[in-house]
Amino acid sequence: MKTNLKQLTKEELLLFVENLGQKPYRSRQIINWIYKKHATSINEMCDLSRDFRDELNEIAFISNLNLLQRRVSKDGTRKFLFELEDGETIESVLIPNIRGRNKFTLCISSQVGCALGCRFCMTGLLGLKRNLRAHEIIDQIIIVNRLINLNSIIPAALANKGTNGNFEISNIVFMGMGEPLNNFNEVGRALRNITELMGFSRRKITVSTAGIIPGIRKLADTGPAANIAVSLNAANDETRNRIMPINKKYNLTKLIKACKEFPLPPNRRITFEYVLLGGINDSGKDALLLVELIRGIKSKINLIPYNPVHSSTGFKKPPESRVLEFQKVLRKAGLIVIIRKSKGADISAACGQLRAGYK
Ligand code: SF4
Repeated sequence: MKTNLKQLTKEELLLFVENLGQKPYRSRQIINWIYKKHATSINEMCDLSRDFRDELNEIAFISNLNLLQRRVSKDGTRKFLFELEDGETIESVLIPNIRGRNKFTLCISSQVGCALGCRFCMTGLLGLKRNLRAHEIIDQIIIVNRLINLNSIIPAALANKGTNGNFEISNIVFMGMGEPLNNFNEVGRALRNITELMGFSRRKITVSTAGIIPGIRKLADTGPAANIAVSLNAANDETRNRIMPINKKYNLTKLIKACKEFPLPPNRRITFEYVLLGGINDSGKDALLLVELIRGIKSKINLIPYNPVHSSTGFKKPPESRVLEFQKVLRKAGLIVIIRKSKGADISAACGQLRAGYK
């Protein structure tokens, strides 16, 4: 079986070229072609000798994802639907940063579907199809980067308006389809390549979890950690059990303990994501319970008013007054709180919506 060069770590690639009798610098050339120049075939690597390219073509290849669909929202969010080798599909979402018009956050998927079945999530309704391999995670970044470099996803109007034209992905978030900590080995391998081969700082990468406690502990053990976001969504077990079945396995007491034990580097905070579901978890009492629950944890809270557009989960959007009141209670307790506006609602940008609508 041929080796997929994108699946290899830096050390593995070095060993690979040395085993072919090549000098170590050849691995750096290959890395440059794949991760900086976004080469799609070995034949493009024109600074490798013809003989070496022929030899590589015999035993190795560079994988790619097939871009099936892309949509652009009025708010600048772009959504991509990719087809994998086995015909499964995954989504990635490119979101303009609030500050810095040239910079984007890319939200990537870690699994096809998800086993956790959070009741408000379209991906949860699909169930788990399979884990992504590291190269499939990495390819989402490489392909979107390639499109940015080709200037094919930045409208000319924006490119000329108050920007210097150098668009870039500044942040990566594992908040697309899937629970990344349920695919720890491949996500860990992808994280290594994203940092060591693509050059992203771990400070610019966030891994979001619904609360897989062994995964949180393993992430803490992998050295200088990526940022962690915990999808909390309720401050008592009764409500959380109802909307996030994973809570029956890892309840709030265990989850909060794991968060308290997570070794945060200086100046970093755990992000708690809280989807406000109308009439379910958005009362003043819920807000007070949340204050008590996360007391003592260096954190910031993202409140995400649920947006039912194109969704069939049966939950309601909370009234704006309730969202503001919820935020007020948290702020009064000294917490850092951001209300995250729903991005790309007109293009089905919430997790799993585009895939669900694709036939
Ligand atoms: S919210 Fe995340 S963890 Fe929950 S079902 Fe959806 S993808 Fe899975």
